[in-house]
Amino acid sequence: MLAPVRTSRAYQPNLPGPNLMDTELNRSIADNLARVRERIAAAEARYGRPPGSVALLAVSKVQGAERIAAAYAAGQSAFGESYVQEALDKQAALAHLPLGWHFIGRVQTNKTRDIATHFDWLHSLCDLKHARRLAAQRPADAPPLQVCVQVNLSGEASKAGLAPQDVAALIDACGALAGITVAGLMTLPAPAQDLAAQRRPFAALRALRDRLATPDLPLTTLSMGMSADLEAAVAEGATMVRIGTAVFGARPPAGGR
Ligand SMILES: *Cc1c(COP(=O)(O)O)cnc(C)c1O
Repeated sequence: MLAPVRTSRAYQPNLPGPNLMDTELNRSIADNLARVRERIAAAEARYGRPPGSVALLAVSKVQGAERIAAAYAAGQSAFGESYVQEALDKQAALAHLPLGWHFIGRVQTNKTRDIATHFDWLHSLCDLKHARRLAAQRPADAPPLQVCVQVNLSGEASKAGLAPQDVAALIDACGALAGITVAGLMTLPAPAQDLAAQRRPFAALRALRDRLATPDLPLTTLSMGMSADLEAAVAEGATMVRIGTAVFGARPPAGGR
């Protein structure tokens, strides 16, 4: 057998000036976060929402761990991810930071254990079979997984989410499952240009929530609004906006996903 190749002691990898780069990255993400927080605060004021009533989830899918660390350094601690394996890799790299992790992507049956084990929230529940698996797989010593039921309000068959008329049955069935708590509803509407058109699906999600909420299950979370339509979502009662591009900049290509 051949001996492993040794690199010479004199060899030093020529890393790109890490301190300078980190500083620039930190500054630009801190600036972006400040602008997003200003947009949220301005929308809260404009639409009569109490200050601080809209939480910011920074959507870090496809972004590297160093960008998440930069956002954390600027005061952001809740992050949304869409791909399980990618998220687990970043969680491992960032295990020293007290971060909250939200899964916002499509749930695959063979990934429910990872979601149940490694996330605090799931925004995209559409299927009772997944709910049962998540509840059974949630570690006994962890608080219940907070879930939002994803609702498809545009009726496009290609879009994830339950039809509005099917949401009540799923929520009822989830009531029997220790290990998950239905915190509210989520939607991901097709992009729309003007504010009135952006507000329509968000108003519909809120109306559905108002119909389904009970004293025992108030469904307080409305997860809606992204970089391009957060004002419309805040106007219609969003309690959590999911912001990617406006925090981290344009996403690098996902590369075959
Ligand atoms: C990517 C993504 C977002 C963030 O979108 P931006 O337009 O980059 O703010 C929000 N929600 C979900 C479900 C996403 O997949």
